[in-house]
Amino acid sequence: MQVHESTTVATFADLRVDGARLWDSLMQLARIGATDKGGVCRLALTELDREARDLFIAWAKEIGCTVRIDAIGNIFARRAGLRDDLAPVMTGSHIDTQPTGGKFDGNYGVLAGLEVLRTLADANVRTLAPLEVAVWTNEEGSRFVPVMMGSGVFAGAFTLEHALEQRDREGVSVRDALSRIGYAGENEKPHAVGAYFEAHIEQGPVLEAHDKTIGVVQGALGQRWYDVTVHGMEAHAGPTPMELRRDALLVAADLIHAVNRIALDHAPHGRGTVGWLDVHPNSRNVIPGRVTLTVDLRAADDATLTAMDSALRAACSLAGEKAGITVDVEQVVYFPPQPFAAELVGAVKQGADTLGFASMDVISGAGHDAVYLARVAPAAMIFVPCKDGISHNEIEDARADHLEAGCNVLLQAMLNAAQKAGSADA
Ligand SMILES: [Zn+2]
Repeated sequence: MQVHESTTVATFADLRVDGARLWDSLMQLARIGATDKGGVCRLALTELDREARDLFIAWAKEIGCTVRIDAIGNIFARRAGLRDDLAPVMTGSHIDTQPTGGKFDGNYGVLAGLEVLRTLADANVRTLAPLEVAVWTNEEGSRFVPVMMGSGVFAGAFTLEHALEQRDREGVSVRDALSRIGYAGENEKPHAVGAYFEAHIEQGPVLEAHDKTIGVVQGALGQRWYDVTVHGMEAHAGPTPMELRRDALLVAADLIHAVNRIALDHAPHGRGTVGWLDVHPNSRNVIPGRVTLTVDLRAADDATLTAMDSALRAACSLAGEKAGITVDVEQVVYFPPQPFAAELVGAVKQGADTLGFASMDVISGAGHDAVYLARVAPAAMIFVPCKDGISHNEIEDARADHLEAGCNVLLQAMLNAAQKAGSADA
């Protein structure tokens, strides 16, 4: 192929992805681990994950990509640029799923990236900077904790060694699972990334409710997770008069209301959830003596998240005092709010405008690989609607035209970044 330096942004602006091919590839990938209810169960580093990885790599090689695997099993499929000294413009996501997962969560981001590369291969054009599609290991965290494991190692959120030592419920380590499926790659320093984009289904109802095709993601909510333990005293449900009880569950009920109120007090982005309760001794005729509950607080900026943290601690002391019992609050997880790079977010918005898609600014309530990538490179995300906002469910669904639209926005945003990459020193 003759490569011309004169390949211009104007030519690129006319390029469009093949929506039918994208859809077909999504459906083909979804057959690996397909469930009876139309979903996918493809847990990280299983034989099914290996099969899916092999398929992606075969597709990438078909269009001339070089493929590298790192030591935590992340896959990087690279399409050479005119200037291979430049840091690649990267996109990607994950192809592991929840046990009752869908066809689109993660898979869409990977295959949208592949479709971008296929489109460029068809048009026989080269970008200035190289392009890469990444498949991040164990994003879901369903079989191995922590979640977003591959991107977390890549971004230095935790060490490779820490990740490799984690074990599933059967006692199999990440290290052994990786070598079993043949995806323990080179232990090399993470390479520089010029820009990172990730396309993803929204996993929420906002775009659909506003009848928008593209969500221009401004950033991701910060998160604080807690284990709260209420220490009451168990006693017989019959002989113990109401005024003498130290009912831990009653205090926990107050706290559930408090968590909800704290989130409402910090609108529009405040979130507060109690998702899990452990009641001791959990017996019909015993006043609960001890309750542990999880609290998940989220906010768009750290000042708000800190205010919510103070409000939670105050609510716990108050509820405990009122009942004359102790409430312990332990924070177990902290993810800072992660704004995305203004320039890249602007490129996503511009892409949607130029292509004529209705868009709106949104914020990601969930964690994504892009949130870790944003620590080491300029990053942005593109959301497309999913049916009724449902994901992590076998009925997860998305419209082919929305997926195609998001992929076209991804194409334009990546081209924009790849051409700009060299402009400073070209
Ligand atoms: Zn995902």
